[in-house]
Amino acid sequence: MKLLVVDDSSTMRRIIKNTLARLGYTDILEGGDGLEGWAAIDSNPDVEMLITDWNMPEMNGLELVKKVRSDARFKDLPIIMVTTEGGKAEVITALKAGVNNYIVKPFTPQVLKEKLAAVMGVSE
Ligand SMILES: [Mg+2]
Repeated sequence: MKLLVVDDSSTMRRIIKNTLARLGYTDILEGGDGLEGWAAIDSNPDVEMLITDWNMPEMNGLELVKKVRSDARFKDLPIIMVTTEGGKAEVITALKAGVNNYIVKPFTPQVLKEKLAAVMGVSE
């Protein structure tokens, strides 16, 4: 299963990747901002899950989610947003844009595991 992790922090990408690896997911593409994320998924439409940050330069995560969701190839793609923007208004905004689930930083590996399971259940 191929996943795409988009975050402008290489440290955060590594943390997410290491957590995913422990859960058995090792086929992981990366992007350092929304534009890189879009380029990665546009050229790898077999990606089965997008995990994205919100605050990033060039194109932020919310814009990336809207762009991905507006493409028919990705209308059912599971998307998890991982962000410091944990306010209720932000969560609602993200869900309206098409995010399936939401993780507030900092998070534990257990939380990521639970959200992944929840999103995969939803996507089936
Ligand atoms: Mg960021």
